[in-house]
Amino acid sequence: RANWLKKLTQGLSRTGSSIAQVFTGTRIDDELYEELEAALLMADTGVKATEALLLDLKRRVKDAKATEPSQVKALLAEAVTALLKPLEGALVVGEHQPTVIMVVGVNGAGKTTSIGKLTRHLADADQKVLLAAADTFRAAAREQLAVWADRTQVEIISQESGDPSAVTFDAVSAGRARGCDVVIADTAGRLPTQLHLMEELRKIKRVIGKAQPDAPHEVLLVVDGNTGQNALTQVKAFDDALGLTGLIVTKLDGTAKGGVLAAIARERPLPVYFIGVGEKLEDLQMFRASEFAQALLS
Ligand code: GDP
Repeated sequence: RANWLKKLTQGLSRTGSSIAQVFTGTRIDDELYEELEAALLMADTGVKATEALLLDLKRRVKDAKATEPSQVKALLAEAVTALLKPLEGALVVGEHQPTVIMVVGVNGAGKTTSIGKLTRHLADADQKVLLAAADTFRAAAREQLAVWADRTQVEIISQESGDPSAVTFDAVSAGRARGCDVVIADTAGRLPTQLHLMEELRKIKRVIGKAQPDAPHEVLLVVDGNTGQNALTQVKAFDDALGLTGLIVTKLDGTAKGGVLAAIARERPLPVYFIGVGEKLEDLQMFRASEFAQALLS
């Protein structure tokens, strides 16, 4: 994890450098706050979260009777941590047999990679996992998931063509019959129109409920953190259509837009189960608000 933290800090340095720059002066004045506002907006923190952060920061500065910009920086880290804290959450498995996790997100967000990494985490924790390749539109997506299944030695239900909800139904039924602990369904990220996509995903969700009455237990959205405010737009759209239970935010390595987590915290605070800082297995880790705030400002 120490190695990973280093990666996170390096990854967010493009976001953080302009924020850190604000505190290199000698005075705490309006100019400092104006520069900070601009830097936060540049980092894709969004208008609402930026306003909330500045308000909280000014209160903290007053309470602490801070006199040095470096103290303000430390107080900003506290304010960011407080804002992000509600996003901390742990993915719970083991309460259902099987726990059914539906994973959604636009193509290229890192959905299949994240499923692979999550599968490894679960398999390492002795959970019996079954994968459902419900992205029947892209052969490449199925193949990629099959590679992960092979690598992690878990079973996979896949069909060359046909109805994605039928594949998912079969997979959940098989998961129940085979005594699996977790079933993870990969879904398509692009259909002819956005409307079609949401309809298709809603159908998959309904069908999962038919195969197992209280499922899906998790509907996770994978978003590319490097898309900044666009990630927030996706969170809102998928949540409105499906009712999300959590997020995985990828590609926080080398992004200038890491502030988007603050925007998500302010506008649609869903638990962030994992964040990704690279393509390797160990690059997906649990989200911790204070770690993230420290990385963001260093
Ligand atoms: P999908 O279309 O959503 O299933 O996306 P993929 O899982 O195929 O990922 C798209 C690309 O993003 C691949 O090249 C992945 O290796 C890469 N990727 C996934 N997560 C991360 C991450 O956290 N950081 C970086 N740099 N690349 C990632």
